[in-house]
Amino acid sequence: MPSVYMEDLDAFTYRERIAQDNAVVLIPVGSIEQHGPHMPLNTDVLLSRAMAGATAAGIDGLVAAPVVYGYKSQQRSGGGNHLPGTTSLDASTVISIAKTLVLEFARHGARKIAFINGHFENYQFLYEGVDLALRELRQMGIEDLKVVLLSYWDFVDDATIAELYPNGFTGWDLEHGGVLETSLMLHLFPERVHMDKVVDAPPAVLPNYDVLPVNPDLTPESGCLSSAAEATVDKGRILLERASAGMAAALNHEFPHSMHVVRQAEHDASLAG
Ligand SMILES: [Zn+2]
Repeated sequence: MPSVYMEDLDAFTYRERIAQDNAVVLIPVGSIEQHGPHMPLNTDVLLSRAMAGATAAGIDGLVAAPVVYGYKSQQRSGGGNHLPGTTSLDASTVISIAKTLVLEFARHGARKIAFINGHFENYQFLYEGVDLALRELRQMGIEDLKVVLLSYWDFVDDATIAELYPNGFTGWDLEHGGVLETSLMLHLFPERVHMDKVVDAPPAVLPNYDVLPVNPDLTPESGCLSSAAEATVDKGRILLERASAGMAAALNHEFPHSMHVVRQAEHDASLAG
């Protein structure tokens, strides 16, 4: 089985996957952002790429090289952009990167693209970049390109939330450096997580509005907005399996004529025969 990661392929194999298979190109988007004392700055890059990899395997897709930097961390979802280590892009840059990548993959012949977002704050700017790219492509007469935009945690269903958060769920915004990301990291990259450094504090209490410049006192000293103490390898495995299965189903739904559907049909037919 060749790698699902585009940057592992030679250009000829890659071109074939696009031209013959019309493979879905999944673009992981992360951030360089503090994730408390127990996880690395590139947590969102690692997780969006791994989520894209698990999803691509289920739909015969291709994972593009990740977008490493993201939009500014906001206090109510990522602790805030004032924290050293967190290294962010202006919105116009994120928009420009998203737009440029759509145009580049369109130039390669790709017509099925999905952004797999792993950093809360990126979303609207990726959306804008995609919209601008599609407008430009339409003016060039290219109308058959479709883009799906998603954040992977939106594919963790309510039953899974109830199962993994028996003591109550604080919401995805406060999950920064908490059970979700830490469990996934424990499952996928255990050597990069230091559970002994987890600060087990109650969820951050933040107002339901923003103030600029931020009041740094509102961000817990750990930089995490909820505790990761309940994170486990097992929860990480469940989160990866269910979220990637949900994303694969959504992409199958949006890109119904993918080669993998044909291949699956051929496979089923050969089994039946
Ligand atoms: Zn994160």
